[in-house]
Amino acid sequence: MINVCGIVGCILKEEDDVAPILFDCISKLEYRGYDSLGLATFSEDKIHIKKDKGKIIEVDKSLDLTDMPGSFGIAHVRWATHGDPSKLNAHPHVDEENRVAVVHNGIIENYNALRRKLMDKGHEFVSDTDKEV
Ligand code: GLU
Repeated sequence: MINVCGIVGCILKEEDDVAPILFDCISKLEYRGYDSLGLATFSEDKIHIKKDKGKIIEVDKSLDLTDMPGSFGIAHVRWATHGDPSKLNAHPHVDEENRVAVVHNGIIENYNALRRKLMDKGHEFVSDTDKEV
């Protein structure tokens, strides 16, 4: 096991649901090691997110990960570096207006300085991760 998180992005040409493909792709990344996971899809002008800590099969049992609308999306398997493995800290993260969803691999070294700067400007954070910044 190498403990490196994984990212998937997919845009379908047809108006078909992308969630089963994202699910299949993150399942293929399981060997890399992870502690939490999440999917984001987009349809009807809205971002849909399903995420939690745990193994893909367990999270799928409780959230039904392949049942999400939209023909494009992103997915992530996380290996936590900043913030515990949890539903709140799992990627994707969204902005305060729910208009942008982001997944990220690695570490944002200056996230604390950036976070403080953004909080001074009135931004609020819901997770403990470096990546939400
Ligand atoms: N540093 C990020 C976090 O802790 C990303 C970790 C990763 O690469 O999975 O959420």
